[in-house]
Amino acid sequence: EWAERGAAKIVREVTNPETGQTTKHVIKKGIKDFRFGDVLGDGSYSTVMLARSNDSGKKYAVKVLNKEYLIRQKKVKYVNIEKNTLQRLNNSRGVIKLYFTFQDEASLYFLLEYAPNGDFLSVMKKFGSLSEECACYYSAQILDAIDFIHKMGVIHRDIKPENILLDKDMKIKLTDFGTAKLLDKSEKSGKYDLLERSKSFVGTAEYVSPELLNDNYVDYKCDIWAFGCILFQMISGKPPFKATNEYLTFQKVMKVQYAFTAGFPLIIRDLVKQILVKVPDLRPDESQIKKHIFFKDVNFEDGSVWDKNPPEIA
Ligand code: ATP
Repeated sequence: EWAERGAAKIVREVTNPETGQTTKHVIKKGIKDFRFGDVLGDGSYSTVMLARSNDSGKKYAVKVLNKEYLIRQKKVKYVNIEKNTLQRLNNSRGVIKLYFTFQDEASLYFLLEYAPNGDFLSVMKKFGSLSEECACYYSAQILDAIDFIHKMGVIHRDIKPENILLDKDMKIKLTDFGTAKLLDKSEKSGKYDLLERSKSFVGTAEYVSPELLNDNYVDYKCDIWAFGCILFQMISGKPPFKATNEYLTFQKVMKVQYAFTAGFPLIIRDLVKQILVKVPDLRPDESQIKKHIFFKDVNFEDGSVWDKNPPEIA
């Protein structure tokens, strides 16, 4: 499954301009083809570093995972889920791109698209809260990205501001698919059954949905719940369900107990109220949310959600 040790095969087609004949060249890209730079961050099981391709100078973020540690901590499964999910989602504007995977004796390597503008949590922390215009811009992209992954049969299950990165143009990129659920297509309809429920675990206390806490099962609506929490946070500067410890946070989530901050815009308040409902079936889906008046000036059909320049953050 993983590329042969230290190398990924890349097939490049070369056409001879004189004969017009096309030949296929197999190029082996390996970890030696990249120069490693600064550490960008640490995860629980990985270190992410900046890397540059020796050929093109193009920057990548390389996630390095220690094999022995993964095996000892029984996390191999999650690394494979992350890889399979990123490969399924590889042509999308709102998901971090996975270019190559390598391995050597000690480590697994993910060569990922580099997102130089950090994560969305840092943006929100820096500005405290966002203007309505900014909230609309970023939430429209997050919503469209969630809609896309669901259409591709992927439930993220741990959507939170830290898992939303910003690329060089300040466009959002979902990341961290290690705990995603990949759905199979139904044999009958040939489509993904989004209502398929899966047993889950607690992702992150503040963004976890009540159905997970109540009966340990979630479907795609858990990502919609997290989206509602993030939208609230963009305006309030803090997530709706937050307490001094996880237990108390869970209590609040289960009771759907939250309060809007003074001056919270009425239109966004209405949308958040519609999303943060306890019963997942009563929670709107992406297409219903896209029709909400908050998004009246956003065209989700023509790609402009992704093409428009970001507003100045305020
Ligand atoms: P955990 O897996 O424990 O939830 P995590 O998601 O933060 O942690 P990683 O995905 O390994 O772990 O990322 C670690 C850090 O590296 C991130 O917090 C982020 O700062 C940085 N990082 C990850 N991917 C990229 C990327 N594509 N571009 C730029 N920085 C990145």
